[in-house]
Amino acid sequence: MQFKDIVGQRDTINRLTSIIDSGRVSHAQMLLGEAATVMPLAWAYLQYLCCENRQHHSDGELHADSCGECPSCKKIASLMHPDLHFIFPTATTSRVKEKPWSGEFQGEFRDFMLQTQGSGNIDDWYETLGIENKQGLIREPDADGVVSDLSLKAYEGGWRMMVVWMAEKMNESFANKLLKTLEEPLPGTLIMLVCESDERLLPTIKSRVQTLRVESGKRKEENNAEFAEMLVSWLRMLFKLKMKELSAQVDKMAGLNREQLKLFLQYALKVMRDCFLNSAAGVECHLGSGDEKFDAQFPKMITVNNIALIEEALNDAIFATERNAYAKIALMELSFRMSKALKKR
Ligand SMILES: [Zn+2]
Repeated sequence: MQFKDIVGQRDTINRLTSIIDSGRVSHAQMLLGEAATVMPLAWAYLQYLCCENRQHHSDGELHADSCGECPSCKKIASLMHPDLHFIFPTATTSRVKEKPWSGEFQGEFRDFMLQTQGSGNIDDWYETLGIENKQGLIREPDADGVVSDLSLKAYEGGWRMMVVWMAEKMNESFANKLLKTLEEPLPGTLIMLVCESDERLLPTIKSRVQTLRVESGKRKEENNAEFAEMLVSWLRMLFKLKMKELSAQVDKMAGLNREQLKLFLQYALKVMRDCFLNSAAGVECHLGSGDEKFDAQFPKMITVNNIALIEEALNDAIFATERNAYAKIALMELSFRMSKALKKR
């Protein structure tokens, strides 16, 4: 993976290459942002770090890149580098019936990364493993893997690298063992956390890694426009409650992948709170439905009598989504609760 293969992110990439060029590579780093955006950056970063013939450009958007040709670049590009290790969430599968850990799934993970070029998300990974309905975790045996992989002598005489993909999925016992490794880093080792949300990471871990936040750029605005449209059509259905139409609308929402659905529900929650606060304060609130009448009327429906019920219903649906509940059922239940709550104004 070369930086030139990544769309956008030029400022971030130039920052990453300048860190390496300055020789101040930290033993523990975290790239924080959507995995689909961050993982290709991590991959290209490690390739640049190990490249035997780094290319510098005095003109152009990219200041530097790996050569893509040297033996080291080729091994990292094909994920065959003997000093590059991966830790990632796993669960029991039809093949691994107990004590799952990353070591059991290295081949699957490498194929998954090569196929998606790093831009697969957690749902895609679970689908690959056939564990869509389970919650993957990074567990204690994974930590033992980190210690043994990193304590080996580097085959290639350079860096020994460990990528922890979706670091927020680590459980407590993994976190505690990782912490020990971070506290006493072995020389020549690099631990790279790829993390979408650092809220669940131990503060002691966060304080020991050098973090770079990566924005996904355009994606967020696109999401919001799409979400606004979806939210308004759904809200309209909640008043009419015609089963056939509602069911079709819910199908559309359930068609989002789990991560997107969660983002949509969080967006809906934020809009409901804004409607409540603004209408309580007598300020106009724009839903962006394109229908002025609906925009003007809807926020008035959210009052002190129903905001708590609405928040509770949405939070339960977010929780159910996180727990991999069947999306359509969770959304139908949410629709009925919302519809009932809206009548209580
Ligand atoms: Zn190279």
